Amino acid sequence: MSIWRYIVHSAVGLSRPGCHGESEMTSTAIPPATALPPGAAHIDHFAQADAADLSGVQLRMIREAAPRFREWFATTGTPDYVGTFDLVSLPYPTKFGLWRAALSPVPFLTITNRLLVLRWKDAEGRTRTMLFEPSDVQLDGNTPYFKALRESMPQQFERFTVTYHATVEEHLRRLGIRAEEVDYITFDHLHTQDVRRWIGTTTPQADISPAKPVEPYFPNATMIVQRRELAALAELHPLQRPWFQPEAYTDLRRDAIVEIEGDILLGPGIALLSTPGHTPGNHSLVLNTTTGIWASSENAIAAECMAPEHSRIPGVRRWAGRWGQEVIINANTIENTAQQYNSMVKEKSIVDRSRVDPRFPQFFPSSELTRNRLNPGTQPTFNHHAINHGSLTPQR
Ligand SMILES: [Zn+2]
Repeated sequence: MSIWRYIVHSAVGLSRPGCHGESEMTSTAIPPATALPPGAAHIDHFAQADAADLSGVQLRMIREAAPRFREWFATTGTPDYVGTFDLVSLPYPTKFGLWRAALSPVPFLTITNRLLVLRWKDAEGRTRTMLFEPSDVQLDGNTPYFKALRESMPQQFERFTVTYHATVEEHLRRLGIRAEEVDYITFDHLHTQDVRRWIGTTTPQADISPAKPVEPYFPNATMIVQRRELAALAELHPLQRPWFQPEAYTDLRRDAIVEIEGDILLGPGIALLSTPGHTPGNHSLVLNTTTGIWASSENAIAAECMAPEHSRIPGVRRWAGRWGQEVIINANTIENTAQQYNSMVKEKSIVDRSRVDPRFPQFFPSSELTRNRLNPGTQPTFNHHAINHGSLTPQR
């Protein structure tokens, strides 16, 4: 029985909108009964493309499937609320963020990592709250890559280049959202993430709770994650190792995790679409809002990386034209570059154009290239800054 079928038929009991045939997915894992909200359903517009093993064939199939997905997704409704909140701005290697395209000799650019807060009503009328990218910035700092970077730089460098805007807890407090109200958390992928404080552990943790298991900060939250992302964490390849903290996943509360496979509709105008490549279980948040359809992930660090022909970052437009590439990938991992490229075309093909500047698609980078006078050669041509939609109604 596939994970999905279990969730849909046993826990959620709903049909499969957007179906064009039976799913081929197989897994023996059993998710908790409370897994996904009523109204959640599998999406299989891209099932055939996902199954293609040749990158060129897959790319064509993605392009062919995207218009039908767009048309259908716009009919699923809209969430009640989407808000965006800055967590941290930090240096990131230019060669990763803009791959081979930028001419700037400055080794770092600046990206801003943000939290999205979402609310919607499920099929039974109950309000649901989800956090997308609730990075625990403090514990994420233990990621091997960041640790090595910090150790190689003088302390002043961090003070000078890193800006801590506010923590997840601080943002939620200001919004009036209690920790118990959070039903779901999800990340586009698990690079750098340490979620022990969010969903708790079953055993004591030497570094943060040596005497007893970690109590979950979000006692009612379930982490939604692609099965392949967790599977990859269990046995990392050397190309993947600098970016993950696998030891933070061994003792997590399993009943606070739901593993999914592929593309799912979570609620009206809220979907998670599988966009592998950057990591094996990468997925993108896709939203239908009053400003049209958006997608968010870290596959690219700027909207202009999805439309390099309009980029004014020195080198980018020319490089994309010369190599005939329609996207500039965020290339800190190159474990599956063609697949990441295809996933970016999937994102680019399903979103609407920006109402602020229609040259750019509504691809919202979960870590967005940010203007910084220290990096003159990588100033963004255009920033989305945020996705804002609807309003927040206090819960009783
Ligand atoms: Zn990443």
